[in-house]
Amino acid sequence: MTNNMFFIANWKMFGDIRSVNSTKKVIKLSKNKKYKRAQIIYCPPYTLLEKFLKITKKSKIKIGAQNCHYSQRPGPFTGSISANLIKSIGANYVIIGHSENRISEDNNHTINLKIKSALKEKLKVIFCIGETLNEKRRNKTNLVLKNQITRGLKNIKNNNIIFAYEPVWSIGTGVIPTNNSLKKQILNIKKIINKFCKIKNPKIIYGGSVNTKNITELKKISLINGFLIGGASQNTKNFIDIIKKTIN
Ligand code: PEP
Repeated sequence: MTNNMFFIANWKMFGDIRSVNSTKKVIKLSKNKKYKRAQIIYCPPYTLLEKFLKITKKSKIKIGAQNCHYSQRPGPFTGSISANLIKSIGANYVIIGHSENRISEDNNHTINLKIKSALKEKLKVIFCIGETLNEKRRNKTNLVLKNQITRGLKNIKNNNIIFAYEPVWSIGTGVIPTNNSLKKQILNIKKIINKFCKIKNPKIIYGGSVNTKNITELKKISLINGFLIGGASQNTKNFIDIIKKTIN
């Protein structure tokens, strides 16, 4: 394995001002030549973005937001944050289409608008896709992924997109796909991107219950360009352990 690997920490609505300091050990690791292939990205809650940007300033760790509004202009959207606001404080990435947001505000159309808005601001997009348990049971996975990708990326030609395959049934449950089925899905996603999108060498990462134990199996899938990590990334020791076990 020679390519760079993404380790994207999705802190969701966890962490507070004190937890920012817990990242110091990760910053130290990011400066260690041995782990230079690790591209670490922290996506904390909006209110911690500035603190994260400050503490990671002298490292190669990047910072992202967990969502953005679809509007490309400022407007009367109480409680919302635009891609422009995220970019203006110095963040580089934004997660779009996370299944926890697809439950409420997001659908393939709003996700498409959000991605356009983020790319216009030159933010890199972590685009989440994945089927629910119900869709998996009804053998709808391929169709769901195809719709999410083609509708989410309608009229978009841009390479600044990382595809995060996150089967919804795997998020926060401790259940992960077998390596064989994960490999099959990654190949399927590549095929869809190849056929319908003008994106060269797409980066595809996996997310869903990645932890210090299952990482030794997951890292064997050479098609994977990294991991989107929720729960385990909020514990610095575990996050470091995952990075070290992947890149050894
Ligand atoms: C996520 O929410 O993106 C995620 C991968 O969560 P977890 O690792 O906790 O399953």
